[in-house]
Amino acid sequence: MAAITLRRLGKVYPGGVRALDGLDLSIADGEFFALLGPSGCGKTTLLRTIAGLEVATEGAVQIGDRDVTNLQPGRRDVAMVFQDYALFPHMTVEENIGYPLRIKKLPRSARRDKAAETAAELGLTGLLDRRPGQLSGGQQQRVALARAMACHPQVFLLDEPLSNLDARLRLEARTFLKRLQRELGVTCVFVTHDQAEALALADRIAVMEGGRIRQVGTPVEVFRRPANTFVAGFIGSTPMNLLDAEVAGDAVVVAGTRLPLPEPARAVVADGDRVVYGVRPEYLDLHTAPLDDALSGRVVVVENLGSSSLVSLDLPGGDGVAGVGLQVVVPEGREPELGSTGWVVPRAGRSLLYRDG
Ligand code: ATP
Repeated sequence: MAAITLRRLGKVYPGGVRALDGLDLSIADGEFFALLGPSGCGKTTLLRTIAGLEVATEGAVQIGDRDVTNLQPGRRDVAMVFQDYALFPHMTVEENIGYPLRIKKLPRSARRDKAAETAAELGLTGLLDRRPGQLSGGQQQRVALARAMACHPQVFLLDEPLSNLDARLRLEARTFLKRLQRELGVTCVFVTHDQAEALALADRIAVMEGGRIRQVGTPVEVFRRPANTFVAGFIGSTPMNLLDAEVAGDAVVVAGTRLPLPEPARAVVADGDRVVYGVRPEYLDLHTAPLDDALSGRVVVVENLGSSSLVSLDLPGGDGVAGVGLQVVVPEGREPELGSTGWVVPRAGRSLLYRDG
């Protein structure tokens, strides 16, 4: 087990693409850490640079107390599980799991014992003689994990580990992976573009954009207190409402309505400031009768989410300004009529103000 420290890490690919732009990050010993962000933000490059499969063009990578920036992948004591699992199709499960031990020149009997032991931990015992082509996606993923585990690495690096599985298996594999990581207590970094997966699995998450980290925090922190509008818009199964607003005394004016100024903003904003008012659809209450100090608009879409519904309203704009959309999650059975007017009140302490919109 080991902590990972990245200092001013940069990667420019030949041809000039700057994939990593001066990253500083500390991942704790035994932490389950997610790298999250949209396609092209540099997640895979970062993981591969920690693994040593890419060479950093600036900065340093430290694993435990060793600076590994210039070490070959095989000397870093990390194991990487690839998105497509990269199993050897002509080898059995046992040979696949034992392969890294063969590279380490362990004798055949020791390899067999170790492969059997690791297979048992991952529920693969009955499958040791099969080849990857004879396994389900979930079983292949477990073989890839077993192969990575067989060497007892200090750090596990997982590149989109669940993306090849269908929705049901994915949930199962998620739970399995989380339990396994807890039991092994090993430092684990995984890449995902799926915010729900990162929120469900990780102890902490780094949200990336354009080769930089926009926020690092626990799932609760990045969900409740996104540091900027990029993170606010990226995290959450329904994106946060982000509305242009203006500070007016101890209120903030949103779509012509005065709402209480969010508490943490009071000290840092001044009268007349143009800001962005952020509130999650889950933290709004929709009423069907007129109410003071509520955002009111016409109900234009109602989408069924299962045990709740997502209601979209059109808020009126100011003079000659186009209206803006607002989304609200309402509990089952509380859906408003399409075309009716709704009055929406933010729950106390749940809204945020941003200056970076
Ligand atoms: P995805 O979720 O789509 O896999 P990502 O966040 O993992 O994306 P990277 O694959 O790390 O992003 O890519 C970051 C940037 O670096 C992108 O602009 C990509 O086009 C570029 N890039 C990646 N690999 C190379 C390469 N070998 N040569 C040149 N540019 C590359």
